Amino acid sequence: MAHQRHLEKTKYRQWVKAGLGLTYLREGIAPFCDDIAKLQHKDILDNIKQTKSLSAVTCGQCCWMTLRPDHAKGGNRACILGQRNCNCCNPAGKITCPNKVCGAIYDAIVTSHGFTPPAPYWKNTETHHWCTDPWFIAKCFINAPGYDKKASAADIDCIGLLHLIRNNQYFHNHIQCKITQTDVFSKVIADRNEIFHSSTMELEETEANSYIDDMIAVLQSGKELNNRQDAKVAVKKLEELKNKDFVISTENEASLLRLVAEEIRDMLERFENKTEDLATKEECDRLRKQLSELESVISELKREINRLKADVSFQQEPLDYEQSKLGKS
Ligand SMILES: [Zn+2]
Ligand SMILES: [Zn+2]
Repeated sequence: MAHQRHLEKTKYRQWVKAGLGLTYLREGIAPFCDDIAKLQHKDILDNIKQTKSLSAVTCGQCCWMTLRPDHAKGGNRACILGQRNCNCCNPAGKITCPNKVCGAIYDAIVTSHGFTPPAPYWKNTETHHWCTDPWFIAKCFINAPGYDKKASAADIDCIGLLHLIRNNQYFHNHIQCKITQTDVFSKVIADRNEIFHSSTMELEETEANSYIDDMIAVLQSGKELNNRQDAKVAVKKLEELKNKDFVISTENEASLLRLVAEEIRDMLERFENKTEDLATKEECDRLRKQLSELESVISELKREINRLKADVSFQQEPLDYEQSKLGKS
């Protein structure tokens, strides 16, 4: 069981611990994000209904690329909302929403975006779902590629949810801390990237614990998060991870490695398709090497999991099965 020897390496174990912490953090903030995204969606639609005296706020025909936003008054020379490459500045081929809805939603998304200048990530959304699905508005605030096919809070990973909170001013009314460059939400976004993009996949215990403390600080953010049950449960799990004898099951280790591998694969794909050239050739070679190592550990873990399951079904003891699932047997 080579991977067990792997897991016995103290610094690797600490790295897996920090990665597992992000999973708990995600579980702790996802229901909050879902609730606030729904609230924002409802507020935007109610507001449009009221200000435009509409009987219903529905569309499904527009596309953000060709949509004429409400703030485009006869072709603006510079966007009055400050967005770069805004649809308002390039009126050719732009279409006004036939239902008087989508142009106003577009404006609401731009004005809620927290960057200066505002920079909604339009590629993550599909306009024809705007009136019916809160997440197609929410995803505009995730300033990273790869969320276009994701459809609900359950599909969005930890960093996607953190982006949503940090980049969306509507969310800022529901958290205590003020978003600056050094706030705890921005810090955990940076932490997460350090963990996921670590070339060694090793951490000192103090580093891992400091990452986990940052995650706890997010979950204990005042106003609402700190009072929510899911956040409290996640804090408890994170505190337990900081104990010396924390448990990492094979399943947990495998699912973390799978996420990291998936991210590296996406990065390489974007590099190869030239949609992003942040990496150098050396960096890509290193990523390819890391990916192939990860893939071999993942298949080893998969064999281990299958072996455990086979042992358990042979024993036919439901209790043992549960225990081995939790990695405690
Ligand atoms: Zn504009
Ligand atoms: Zn429309």
